[in-house]
Amino acid sequence: MKTFKNFIGGKWQDPASSEYFENRNPANCDDVIGQFPLSDQRDVDCAVQSAKRGFEIWRRTPAPARGDVLRQVGDILAKRKEEIADLMTREMGKPLLETRGDVQEGIDTAYYAASEGRRLFGRTVPSELRNKWAMSFRRPIGVAGLITPFNFPMAIPTWKSFPALACGNAVILKPAEDVPHTATALVEVLLEAGLPPDVIQLVHGQGESAGKALVEHHEVPVISFTGSTETGRIVGETCGRMHKRLSLEMGGKNAMIVFDDADLDLALDGVLWGAFGTTGQRCTATSRLVIQDGVHDELLSRLVERVRTLKLGDGRAKGTDVGPLINEPAVKKVEQYVDIGVSEGADLLIGGRRATGKGLDKGHFFEPTIFARVEHGMRVEQEEIFGPVLSVIRVSSVDEAFAINNGVKYGLSSSVYTRDVNVAFRAQLELDNGITYINAPTIGAEAHLPFGGVKQTGNGHREGGWEVYEFYSETKVGYIDFSGQLQRAQIDNYLGTPD
Ligand code: ADP
Repeated sequence: MKTFKNFIGGKWQDPASSEYFENRNPANCDDVIGQFPLSDQRDVDCAVQSAKRGFEIWRRTPAPARGDVLRQVGDILAKRKEEIADLMTREMGKPLLETRGDVQEGIDTAYYAASEGRRLFGRTVPSELRNKWAMSFRRPIGVAGLITPFNFPMAIPTWKSFPALACGNAVILKPAEDVPHTATALVEVLLEAGLPPDVIQLVHGQGESAGKALVEHHEVPVISFTGSTETGRIVGETCGRMHKRLSLEMGGKNAMIVFDDADLDLALDGVLWGAFGTTGQRCTATSRLVIQDGVHDELLSRLVERVRTLKLGDGRAKGTDVGPLINEPAVKKVEQYVDIGVSEGADLLIGGRRATGKGLDKGHFFEPTIFARVEHGMRVEQEEIFGPVLSVIRVSSVDEAFAINNGVKYGLSSSVYTRDVNVAFRAQLELDNGITYINAPTIGAEAHLPFGGVKQTGNGHREGGWEVYEFYSETKVGYIDFSGQLQRAQIDNYLGTPD
């Protein structure tokens, strides 16, 4: 079995514990990808000491030069796109079409970050005093600890690390246990592109040991986390106590609303992609379908027919629409939610079971599942399942649909299918989400726009786009008084008094 290492202190290293965990293909558990380090606080501590050295070099590297390294990163990712997509599908299951998109998002993020190296704008503003210059500019912060989930093994680490690096920080990445191979490939690419080795550290291992040690390390002032709301709460408590800068991206319970005037063919394609893409394991997945009375029955029956034709299988096989769930606990969790839905009185229209036969027995496959007659307030309507389960709710009006969309504790993404421009614009203003799509499903964020949610989805920060650069840098203000005399702000007043 191949043994992989951490990247700490400028070299590939074994963990202090000398212990490893296995990484297996979720479509075929007999297929072992390799073993990866089980790191702990000792490894994290070495990584932090190295990253501090890296920070001293990198923060003094001009931002456009940092951007040049990231442009190289984009170029190398583009060259390795097919190979990385393949290894990503092998370790986490989603079809190649999707893992190619995942790498592409990394490429787009690299090129955006590269150009940001020539911006990182500050402001110059007038001073209230004479012969005094006033400006703000951005400074890097230090060592950034990045903790990432399994569902976008390349895109999410790049969303976090590239802007952090463009701003001049050093980075420690703790990827999800299920996708250590993709993270290894990313670090190889960063090194090949010319990033000084101390600037990037890769620490594999479990959240409760390696992740926790990173969050609790007193020399890591910035933490960015994407994952479950439960873990985000633990991370948030620690960061709050230690006064760390923290970005959280957590759960969602995203609704697609289809009104009577919608283009049903379009809505049908949208919901299939939104609900069952990535086997429903996206924070932006469409997990609720809210349909207005007039089109409810037709859309639902056509949807069930289409779901019947979805092909489950190995994401590396031709023709696969839906890959496996990530691991056995994920299957168990989805099974539990199916039981909950049935016991709450929802109608199980299709699916609801582990998928077997036809070469699926060795993987974590679950049938695409639809619950109809779901009532607002049921657990399958309120809680994030993170699997291929869609809850359908019937409504009669725009107000009712909007209230249902807003009636959950999460607020990531929403989608409205309508031809009525007034309803479309009302949705933009009234839906409590970080993202609202009109006539497109709830998934499909673009790298150059801010990504994130309201309420318990996040803590007010955004990934992607221009906003994330504010997260990874401190604003500093510089005043230069060239008047040659003491001038007192708020006290000296030059109004009407010429020199
Ligand atoms: P998911 O259900 O999407 O895997 P998790 O929140 O369990 O979400 O995991 C997301 C990331 O958080 C993973 O990299 C995981 O190892 C890490 N993690 C889990 N528990 C902790 C913790 N207590 N402290 C820090 N990181 C953690």
